[in-house]
Amino acid sequence: MPELFIAGQWAAARDGRTREIRCPADGALVAVVDEAGPDDARAATAAARAAFDHGPWPHTPAADRGRLLLRVADLLERDRAALARAESLDTGKRLVESEYDLDDIAACFRYFGALVASGDGGGRIVDTGDVPADSRVVREPVGVCALITPWNYPLLQTAWKVAPALAAGNSFVLKPSELTPHTAIALMRLLAEAGLPDGVANLVLGAGPSAGAPLTEDPRVDLVSFTGGLVTGRRVMAAAAPTVKKVALELGGKNPNIVFADADFDTAVDHALTAVFLHSGQVCSAGARLLVQDELHDRFTDAVTAGAERIRLGGPFDPEARSGPLISAAHRDKVEAYVAAGLAEGAVLRCGGRRPADPALARGHYFLPTVLDECTAGMSVVREESFGPVLTVERFRTEEEAVALANDTVYGLAGAVWTQDPGRAHRVASRLRAGTVWINDFHPYVPQAEWGGMKQSGFGRELGPSGLAEYQETKHIWRNLAPRPQGWFS
Ligand code: NAP
Repeated sequence: MPELFIAGQWAAARDGRTREIRCPADGALVAVVDEAGPDDARAATAAARAAFDHGPWPHTPAADRGRLLLRVADLLERDRAALARAESLDTGKRLVESEYDLDDIAACFRYFGALVASGDGGGRIVDTGDVPADSRVVREPVGVCALITPWNYPLLQTAWKVAPALAAGNSFVLKPSELTPHTAIALMRLLAEAGLPDGVANLVLGAGPSAGAPLTEDPRVDLVSFTGGLVTGRRVMAAAAPTVKKVALELGGKNPNIVFADADFDTAVDHALTAVFLHSGQVCSAGARLLVQDELHDRFTDAVTAGAERIRLGGPFDPEARSGPLISAAHRDKVEAYVAAGLAEGAVLRCGGRRPADPALARGHYFLPTVLDECTAGMSVVREESFGPVLTVERFRTEEEAVALANDTVYGLAGAVWTQDPGRAHRVASRLRAGTVWINDFHPYVPQAEWGGMKQSGFGRELGPSGLAEYQETKHIWRNLAPRPQGWFS
């Protein structure tokens, strides 16, 4: 069955091209899928445009749109096991992590469904005082959205865009990563099953330059919401400029995890490990930069190193495994190069730094959890996103120094501070230039709270009421309640 979804129909690529999808854990062939080119992307855009300009969806009452999203959440829960399995085969991620992702995905659809079903579309009535007028600000859909997503959390990142885009009444073309197409295909089926009109949701699979770039350039697209790397983000923003599209960018992070000497030691060590090694470090908000107060440094780094050495690697369905492979051979090469550069620049290798010797893992793209100690702010492995299981450790003496080191990055996605002093915790949190700051925690998020970056981690917000507003235009409607001539020119 063909896998592109255009105007409510499943279609093969116009030029007949296909791509092999292989599991990163062992290289096994998962499937061969259609590979869209520019003509397919343009056809999908035309379908989304027609659905927006002539179809019922933008004018469907918000409460009905909300109810459809709640139905999608039910369907996601019904198919949780199959979807989690598909996600793990594409990404190599542990099955249990994919299952958690599925819960978050259903919660996202539920949140935006409930938000608009309850009538909270963000509009308001304006007080005009003595002026006899009915003045109201209303929110309307933006139009056709190009939604471009990465491979690390394929369906979750997609849900963060699809759910608010649909809640607001838009139509869209989705372009997931070429490496992880399967849950996007499944989502199209679920949206159709839930009753979404044809043409509102469209899917093109394929590489960024051939299937994604045409969406960012097309004058029929009104908004581009992109999640991915900084370099691609710059490209997307430039491509959207000539037609002044609305752009939302969710880019990378080089997130500081600051541990003061008075932190709860065992909890901070435990979270420092999860912060960076979850999903082999392929997490935008990974706590890849550990900043430890000088007097705690040795003990803390020893404990984190011991924890990293205990992490057992394995495939998605190995119940003993605690971490999986990297997404591709090319990505592992990149991670290796960052580690080599760090060592050349003076970092001290505490553990990992190489591929595992276990022959059972030889066919997957595995890399051992790595701790690089005695790092300094100028090193490339500290400054740039390796997006792998690599923790850099830096020392600081004072609160002032911790904040300065933490903010010494072009990124501003997330960060954490560990201390038992509430005053210090809030002082540091308020000074960190990051879109999310955790105090004595790492990684949690809820769909009710906004997600997004400062600085070069991007702009625009996902989740929360701002996540919905991202997909809405604002219009002011003024009705004169006592119209009569003004007499200025007559
Ligand atoms: P990427 O290489 O930038 O790709 C992201 C998406 O953009 C993919 O679908 C890609 O297609 C597509 N793309 C590539 N070139 C394009 C172009 N010229 N025009 C339009 N689309 C294009 O990023 P990635 O390696 O998939 O993902 C990892 C990055 O995502 C990391 O930097 C991570 O921090 C970031 N991320 C951020 C967040 C957040 O919330 N801020 C969340 C998750 C991930 P193909 O790859 O299929 O060619």
